[in-house]
Amino acid sequence: MRHALMNILLQRCNKAAAPCLGKMGRHYSTSSLKPELTSVRYKMKRGFYATVTDADIRFFDSLLGSNRIITDPDEIESYNIDFPKTVRGASQLVVKPKSTEEVSAIMKYCNKRRLAVCPQSGNTGLVGGSNPIFDEIVISMKLMNKILDTNELAENSTCEYCNRIP
Ligand SMILES: Cc1cc2nc3c(=O)[nH]c(=O)nc-3n(C[C@H](O)[C@H](O)[C@H](O)COP(=O)(O)OP(=O)(O)OC[C@H]3O[C@@H](n4cnc5c(N)ncnc54)[C@H](O)[C@@H]3O)c2cc1C
Repeated sequence: MRHALMNILLQRCNKAAAPCLGKMGRHYSTSSLKPELTSVRYKMKRGFYATVTDADIRFFDSLLGSNRIITDPDEIESYNIDFPKTVRGASQLVVKPKSTEEVSAIMKYCNKRRLAVCPQSGNTGLVGGSNPIFDEIVISMKLMNKILDTNELAENSTCEYCNRIP
């Protein structure tokens, strides 16, 4: 149902933006086909970064537990492709921290090992900014979704990063 509604929305976006899209060549896909790899389409060159090894995966496993790391290519696909299906990365690892301390430990390790990362929350951005281009590690913020404080007088809340407004 949600997918069908999103498709209708994207079709409307395409129609409304058709005059500009013609020149820019950007089109929000509503099909189930995978988009071309971003690195191929834009002829991009991978930076001088390390590649994820088994030892790295063991480190993240010991830090987060196996249920908070994803290495299954089928499961990773939705993290590699953006919501409007305009870009596709080739990440082979998704990690899901639950706290600031875990984010910090992940970043310290990746910095030391020179592993590239890509932060991702809802993956609902419309410009492909939340998807890897090559094999960056996706740091998914999906589990950091708590409301930390609500101030009714000031009518505002303090939330963790990946919070949805109902
Ligand atoms: C149907 C629809 C309607 C929309 N309408 C509007 C609208 O009316 N007004 C509007 O302003 N926007 C609109 N948007 C855009 C929406 O606000 C963006 O999707 C939103 O900013 C993405 O937030 P996200 O948490 O899903 O992050 P993502 O899509 O996952 O990421 C967005 C960017 O933030 C970066 N990022 C994610 N998490 C972190 C982090 N923890 N630290 C650092 N960087 C991070 C990503 O790398 C990426 O560059 C709409 C989107 C959709 C799909």
